[in-house]
Amino acid sequence: MGGWKLSFFFTDVLLLVVFIGLSRTIFKLSGFGFIVELLALFAFLGIAFLSLIPAYEDANSGWGFLSLVFFFVLVDLFLIWLRTNLFTKTQLLTAFAASLGLFIAIVKLKPKRHESTEGEDKPVSPSVKTEFYPGKYVASSTGTVFHKATCEWAKKIQKKKQVWFGTEEEAKKSYKPHSCLN
Ligand SMILES: [Zn+2]
Repeated sequence: MGGWKLSFFFTDVLLLVVFIGLSRTIFKLSGFGFIVELLALFAFLGIAFLSLIPAYEDANSGWGFLSLVFFFVLVDLFLIWLRTNLFTKTQLLTAFAASLGLFIAIVKLKPKRHESTEGEDKPVSPSVKTEFYPGKYVASSTGTVFHKATCEWAKKIQKKKQVWFGTEEEAKKSYKPHSCLN
């Protein structure tokens, strides 16, 4: 638990550094460039602010938007540098904070669901499997068809996904019959 809260807090600090740095950089610009950059800054701020809520709950959407914000801040800094040739310590620090933020957001973005079913798929020894069925028809909770319990496809349904029915009528309410029922 503590791990991700810490990275959330750290990301907040990075965002703050990035926005202060970016504002300071932008206020050195003038004319059209300044207006465009100011609008971009407001857009970044808005998106970052909205992403913080899902990111706090460790939702992928939050971290996804945060990584986009950090990424576009980096692109923006690069464009400013191309246009103005201005490269100060502020920009260096901002770019560093944005890279670090991007890194954290991407790491957090990785799928967190490790409850993989490896091991559960191991076939139960046939003698046990053919003896007992809690019903006559079976479907997969993630599938669209139901089978006779003796169908080869029925045997491939993972145990935790099996949905059993006593009658065809009952099964037809939620599933279509497989060809094994013809
Ligand atoms: Zn079948």
